Amino acid sequence: MTTNAPRVAKDQVVAIRYTLTSQSGEILDQSGDSPLAYLHGYDNIVPGLERQLEGKAPGDKLRAVVTPAEGYGERDPAGSQRVPREAFPADIHIEEGMQFAAQSPDGRMIPMWVTEVEESAIVVDLNHPLAGETLIFDVEVVALRAASTEELSHGHVHEHGSHHHH
Ligand code: ZN
Repeated sequence: MTTNAPRVAKDQVVAIRYTLTSQSGEILDQSGDSPLAYLHGYDNIVPGLERQLEGKAPGDKLRAVVTPAEGYGERDPAGSQRVPREAFPADIHIEEGMQFAAQSPDGRMIPMWVTEVEESAIVVDLNHPLAGETLIFDVEVVALRAASTEELSHGHVHEHGSHHHH
């Protein structure tokens, strides 16, 4: 028996509720009052979660266990670097946990996270804070809709029909 009920697939906007816990049971993140909407098939969420949501329908609940390789990557011990304070804008107050992006020579944006603030230097880590972690997502698919042409060309969701330029 076949069904025409919509399923999670490429070019669908998927709304999910989720709780993310570490292997030790610590809650790392969860959806807020409203579900998280993302565009499926465009790497807007970690690959392991996106893959396990494929083919699900609204109302489906699942526990997706995502290895570091399909999550935020393995932790690279060489990813931590000490950068002189003056390399950062003087008017920005820098604290632990902040995220910055630096441009690589080939124009890619490289995210980095502040792990330590010293008097004349900032220690940044190129590893995502969740690199090396196995991620456990308890997910419920709440809703599905087809993405708009504009959303497909941007590769991400425009909530509430908002228009923006970037
Ligand atoms: Zn956009």
